[in-house]
Amino acid sequence: MNMKTFLEKFPEEAENIQKVRKVYPMRVSNHFLNLIQEKDDPIWKQVIPDIAELEDNSNEEDPLHEEKYTPVPCLVHRYPDKVLLLVSNKCATYCRFCTRKRKVGKDVPITKEMITNAINYIADHKKIRDVIVSGGDPLMLTDEMLEFVLQSLRDIPHIEIIRIGTRIPSSMPSRVTPELAQMIAKYHPVYVNVHFNHPMEITEESKRACSLLANAGIPLGNQSVLLKGVNDKPAILKELFQKLVAMRVKPYYLYQADLVKGTEHFRTDVETGLRIMEKIQGHTSGLCMPQFAIDVVGGGKVPLLPANLQFQKGDLYVLRNFEGKLVEYRDPKRREYKKRALQRDHFKMGIVFNLKREIEKGMPEDQFAEYDDISVPLAMKSALEKKGIQTDVLETDENLYERLKSGQYDLIFNFSEGVSIGGGARESEVPAMLDALGIPYTGSGVLTHAIVLDKARTKDLLTLHRIPNARYHLLHSGNEKINPNMTFPMFVKPNREGSSKGIKNNALVNNERELRKIAKWVIKTYNQPALVEEYLDGREFTVSIIGNENPKVLPLVEVTFDYLPPHINKFDSYEVKWFWDNPSNPIDPVVCPAKVSKELQKQIEEVCLKTYKALSIHDFCRMDVRLDKDGVPHIIEVNAIPGLLPDPLDNSRFPKSCYALGMTYDDIIYSVVAESMKRHGMHEQAKKLENESSRIIQLGR
Ligand SMILES: *Cc1c(COP(=O)(O)O)cnc(C)c1O
Ligand code: SF4
Repeated sequence: MNMKTFLEKFPEEAENIQKVRKVYPMRVSNHFLNLIQEKDDPIWKQVIPDIAELEDNSNEEDPLHEEKYTPVPCLVHRYPDKVLLLVSNKCATYCRFCTRKRKVGKDVPITKEMITNAINYIADHKKIRDVIVSGGDPLMLTDEMLEFVLQSLRDIPHIEIIRIGTRIPSSMPSRVTPELAQMIAKYHPVYVNVHFNHPMEITEESKRACSLLANAGIPLGNQSVLLKGVNDKPAILKELFQKLVAMRVKPYYLYQADLVKGTEHFRTDVETGLRIMEKIQGHTSGLCMPQFAIDVVGGGKVPLLPANLQFQKGDLYVLRNFEGKLVEYRDPKRREYKKRALQRDHFKMGIVFNLKREIEKGMPEDQFAEYDDISVPLAMKSALEKKGIQTDVLETDENLYERLKSGQYDLIFNFSEGVSIGGGARESEVPAMLDALGIPYTGSGVLTHAIVLDKARTKDLLTLHRIPNARYHLLHSGNEKINPNMTFPMFVKPNREGSSKGIKNNALVNNERELRKIAKWVIKTYNQPALVEEYLDGREFTVSIIGNENPKVLPLVEVTFDYLPPHINKFDSYEVKWFWDNPSNPIDPVVCPAKVSKELQKQIEEVCLKTYKALSIHDFCRMDVRLDKDGVPHIIEVNAIPGLLPDPLDNSRFPKSCYALGMTYDDIIYSVVAESMKRHGMHEQAKKLENESSRIIQLGR
């Protein structure tokens, strides 16, 4: 059949064909015309003009922006080491879906001079090692002209492989002659990529053409385009791929149709392609599987895989096999790491802390009172590294989560006040991250930190457990009616701060006017409710505790205020803690061990251990205790991350208790970390840290 006989057979097509071919060129090889069996069959759709081509204005003429990557005419240099060399604008048949629809078949001849220029460009660019001779169709050239191209390319020393992309073996197989195959073979290695889209294209003639090429030692690959209504069914493509392999053609790419103007009616959605690939994979030879790829504007070819990777975490991969069954796979490298960690010859810790910062304008002067100097985590790190534990110092900031995630830590020393400044449960923020990542850490958990940070909630819980604490009232505005059961003097402080933050010398109030004034200042300055408590007029102690199942109370510290001048109130105000009690002041206001009767010692220990349990505190803690006028110990503060300043002259209270037992700063760190390790079941590691001091703690004084 030729075009004349075709139009005699389908006269009603003539009008549309005339319309379309005014815009887009048309040519159909007799071979293809003969393959057409009926209107709109898969061959017809590929080659016979369709009025729909004229109705598509949605797409671009040059969707891949090839012109942008065209440094000289006839050449597309899009990738570092490979180029397309366009040697012809003609094809034996013009596919209606062609990506180069804008060019092929039009009267822009490619001259020998243009080709020579493009080859010179290739010769000048030593990085190019792969040339794809394309078009149009390179086999539309005469053998002589094609040989000129191949020979010129082969003469360039840095060209390793030459590829020819052609549709001739499917569209005009008679063009492939023994002479052509022998000529190509002279320039090996030459690969030929053919173009079959439907099993109907595989005929005796095309088989003969392919085997001529294969017999000349030319490796053959196939590129198909996924086309709606032509081949967008798994069964069709599976048959095509199998038949290709049977004639020694390896399926190479299955392309998602490009966004070319005039071809929209062929375009499927991506999901269709993925589903087809999924349906074929595993149900035929791996050899039959091409890569499914999208040629993306500005992105080049992107191979797409069906979602075989269902889930991945750590070394675990959950894959979906060709039957849809979920199967597990484990990564070898990470498993090795885990084994190492289990043997504990590579124990790794991190210390998470908050670095003291400059006070910014508008912040209260004690804004960062709870934050630490770099000397604190460095002293801890030095202690741990003496025991061979590799230790990182990590500052708490918004990137902490990622660093914890990638750091492969076995244990974290949590010394963090939180990521947020002033967040309602800030001391729980880092524990929450660590819980989410499954990384063990020292000290209490999320809930304990959240409760302890809220003094009113803590007091409610203590009251529930019949643990003595001062009567209180929480003020949100400062204008509320004051609880009539409470008596002056009273004490006003922020509900959610530590380190004497927000407790100035004037925190002790004797009447309602003073109370409201201070309460309003606290609410405004610290942006939180003010806690008002009845003032306890007795001695003050700091109690340090270490341990878990059987926690031990360390020697009591008494905080004395006798040395203060008369106008300074006798409690742990910000002024007292950070100004009156500093290393340059010769008076030692902190006495350890405190001079107390056996009876008082026992009462204090009891109330503190009860508190420790009631609040589910882990590993270590510091509490402040005050006696009321009758000498009964009351809990006034609980600090689940006590300060651990390394300089003894700083009078850091928790270390002070430990020093009274003869421990060094390093011993303190070892004891806390060892308690935590034991709680997490890391007994071997804990043993390496425990020493004489731990024994002293266990026996008590
Ligand atoms: C497809 C293409 C190539 C060849 O890509 P491969 O993935 O190596 O087959 C080279 N250059 C351009 C511009 C292309 O579109
Ligand atoms: S053979 Fe290739 S270049 Fe020619 S029209 Fe078909 S798709 Fe386009």
